[in-house]
Amino acid sequence: MDLEAYRKINTLCGEQDVRLVAVSKTRTVNEILELYHQGQRDFGENRIQEWIEKKDVLPGDIRWHLIGHIQTNKVKFLSPPPFLIHSGDRISLIEALNKEAEKQGKKFNVLLQVKIAQEESKYGFSVDELIQWSSSGQHKQYPGLVFKGVMGMATFTDDMLQVSREFKALRNCFERIVPFFSPSEFREISMGMSGDYDVAIEEGSTMVRIGSSIFGPR
Ligand SMILES: *Cc1c(COP(=O)(O)O)cnc(C)c1O
Repeated sequence: MDLEAYRKINTLCGEQDVRLVAVSKTRTVNEILELYHQGQRDFGENRIQEWIEKKDVLPGDIRWHLIGHIQTNKVKFLSPPPFLIHSGDRISLIEALNKEAEKQGKKFNVLLQVKIAQEESKYGFSVDELIQWSSSGQHKQYPGLVFKGVMGMATFTDDMLQVSREFKALRNCFERIVPFFSPSEFREISMGMSGDYDVAIEEGSTMVRIGSSIFGPR
């Protein structure tokens, strides 16, 4: 754990009005508690099973962010739902989340994940697909969901020009679809990780998801 790095990042985020999500996947409950005692309340996990095991033994005022790809048959474990699901990456998942939310009589907060990277492996809607989907009003058929914004991951590369281009593309995508959503709800651009959070913040990120810079290498 690098508390000095944590304080530095936390200060930067505070100045820029960016929410810092500490990505605690693979970290122990004690590591999470150590950061909690520094005042950190937003934590991100990418696997539902791991999240459930941890959250049950951790303080109830933690805001949990689910940031990883979710299989539709796992949505039934989102009870109670996390603070925010960053990985709304396809229609079939949106439908499954809505169904589960209605079953629970709750609202699920969801970000729409956009594929901005060059890499084949990354999940998410294409920009065109998302514009098409939201401009035609299809997102309104999910009363169990509150769409809070967009999320994206840049290509894993040292080419910071490429990274900044990809973050710009996500920002542009956000600007293009925001008119179709509720302006008081749809406000988040979740982008930036350990290797590129400074670029992401320059490009208008409202939420960064940072693991290894704070907790050390995984
Ligand atoms: C692991 C992960 C992060 C954090 O990655 P670091 O490089 O450790 O900061 C951010 N976002 C997602 C979706 C992740 O899976």
